[in-house]
Amino acid sequence: MESAAVAQIRFDDRVAIVTGAGNGLGREYALELARRGAKVVVNDLGGSGSGVGASATAAERVVEEIRDLGGTAVANTDSVATRAGGASVVQTALDAWGRVDVLISNAGFLRNSRFEDLTDEQIDPIIDVHLKAAFYVGQPAYRAMRANGYGRMLFTGSASAMFGHAWQANYASGKGAMVGLSNVIALEGSAYGIQSNVLLPTAVSRLADEMDQGFMEIPEFAKSIQTADFSASDGRVVPEFNTPLALYLVSENCQATHGLYSSNSGRYARVRICAGEGWVAPKGSVPPTLEDISTHFDKISELGEFSQPMTVYEEFTAVAAAARKQGVYP
Ligand code: NAD
Repeated sequence: MESAAVAQIRFDDRVAIVTGAGNGLGREYALELARRGAKVVVNDLGGSGSGVGASATAAERVVEEIRDLGGTAVANTDSVATRAGGASVVQTALDAWGRVDVLISNAGFLRNSRFEDLTDEQIDPIIDVHLKAAFYVGQPAYRAMRANGYGRMLFTGSASAMFGHAWQANYASGKGAMVGLSNVIALEGSAYGIQSNVLLPTAVSRLADEMDQGFMEIPEFAKSIQTADFSASDGRVVPEFNTPLALYLVSENCQATHGLYSSNSGRYARVRICAGEGWVAPKGSVPPTLEDISTHFDKISELGEFSQPMTVYEEFTAVAAAARKQGVYP
């Protein structure tokens, strides 16, 4: 059932940190948080879409945009992929305003390659910026939130991790880990008013340039791009379409925690990792045999009515089907 219209959701007196906020999704989050009254730490290292280089201008530009709007923001240009950088991001908020209410952990980049060809230069920096950064910024932010008995954390996952995407084993590993991390923060944080969720966003941003390299060679990818055309042609795969759900999840209005949500082309949906009823081995302490498993494998595999896309490509197909079913597209 749809909810009744609500009053404008505001972030007045809230201090928000957005990592990787110099471009793409993070920039939109930071701008909208500021428009709605939050004081924002705009963190960005200012590197390329594959994580090379650094420049202070990305973060500083967004801070200027926010000030031009009449909002309040400070820049932090450290890398969240180091323990010291993560601490510095949170310290920037504490020095400026003495508290942290919201963390959107969003910084990231891609280094795509076939699984068998991935090098340490493609694995380690990706794990650092997606997985370890979530600890490096998340831990000091959590401590600051805990001190105030209030906090909203949003970690950026990816459909590539939850549903699968070729040539992104490194990235999918880092992004998939956000689910476990957020689930545990949600459990531990509930006693202190801290909520934690994961968003699987989708947008054509700088990362798309990294994505395109050779990807059209994968037939399913080429097909999914055609399927997604319905949304691209309508301008729905821009970063801005992810902002409403992301910001709702970090607002005081939102009571949801321990969740996983998808934002794809204007379709907003809960995603869940589900388990079927399964098959229960006969009573007693004797473990079943491999042959018992084989006999009952259909029952073990059954998921009832749950649907679960097995690749990003299938998610696009499901989004298109939902869009058609709901009469959004012919
Ligand atoms: P983007 O490249 O436009 O923005 C990412 C920003 O993160 C950049 O400004 C970059 O400088 C910054 N950054 C990178 N490494 C950093 C570091 N070590 N410290 C601080 N800042 C750093 O990309 P985007 O599409 O806006 O992606 C934002 C997030 O969403 C990323 O985590 C990405 O993996 C995730 N995501 C994006 C999509 C998509 O379709 N665009 C899909 C799923 C997940």
